[in-house]
Amino acid sequence: MPNGTGTSYCPHCRAFAQYDTSFLFDDEAQTVLDLYYRRCTHCQGLVVWQRTRDKPRLIYPLFASNGQAPSADMPEHIQRNFSEAALIASVSPRAAAALLRLCVQQLCIELGRPGKKLDDDIGKLVAQGLAPSVQQMLDTVRVIGNSAVHPNAIDVEVNEQTVNGLFWCVNMIVFDMISKPKQAAQLYAGVPAEQQQWIDERDKKATEQLANSAPSATPLVLDELMSITQQISGILLDGSDGRSEQEKIEESVPVPIGNPPNPTSDPLDQSGRN
Ligand SMILES: [Zn+2]
Repeated sequence: MPNGTGTSYCPHCRAFAQYDTSFLFDDEAQTVLDLYYRRCTHCQGLVVWQRTRDKPRLIYPLFASNGQAPSADMPEHIQRNFSEAALIASVSPRAAAALLRLCVQQLCIELGRPGKKLDDDIGKLVAQGLAPSVQQMLDTVRVIGNSAVHPNAIDVEVNEQTVNGLFWCVNMIVFDMISKPKQAAQLYAGVPAEQQQWIDERDKKATEQLANSAPSATPLVLDELMSITQQISGILLDGSDGRSEQEKIEESVPVPIGNPPNPTSDPLDQSGRN
């Protein structure tokens, strides 16, 4: 006999489906156990929960997708890693974070980078004009994914909530870098050819005008450049930077007493660069 009905997310078929809840009963002790099961009316899958003081704990199926679905525009081989991460996120958020970092690495390859060192790949994409918000999402997944697998990397707590943010990042990177340009190009293809030609000429003209109107270096800037050049050549020639001792003292950065500088050994381990 069911003890109640309702609607809930089904970890088998991912549908919000109707279910009946039935608590397990211990005949010998004549008590209701803290275990209950539900059967999804959509796929007939069985789901077993344990009642705890905080919130119900999923007992079966052990691996249940957390409901994060990959973007349809994500290449299929990356979708597989994304879905695998979604399947294990509740059991091992750290493993999910590592898989999502792999997704980002694979996305960088899709964007034309070698995919050997993620840190370098992101840097090169930034140099090519990557939007700051996309860089932030890429680096968030990279750094948190690193901290999940490298013991010496910076310490970031990787829990279910953290990893949910990473799923969102990966999908948004796909939206910005794949879906948006694809959809824009599809819509733009509907603009008449003569209009597109006119737009190309307009932009070419504007680029040329901008290049021609770039302000030339003012005498003041030239003076500054000369001074910097003299200082650099002074250092290169005899170690002197062309300034008096008094100027050096005035400009030197004070070091607080009893506050030793941070250790600089092994900086790569501290920064989580990878
Ligand atoms: Zn179901």
